[in-house]
Amino acid sequence: MPVMSSDDFSLHREDCGEFDDGMPISSFPDEVTSIDDLDCECWNEFDSLADAG
Ligand SMILES: [Zn+2]
Repeated sequence: MPVMSSDDFSLHREDCGEFDDGMPISSFPDEVTSIDDLDCECWNEFDSLADAG
């Protein structure tokens, strides 16, 4: 499940160490249309948004 950082609203995996506090979200926001829209390197192991979700 993706987690949205409370600091800058960036999206991360639950086990990512790049955010201090965040809120789990059930699905990616509409503005996220591809894996390339997820900036943090914690998503790098995924090839597509379908795999990440
Ligand atoms: Zn991250």
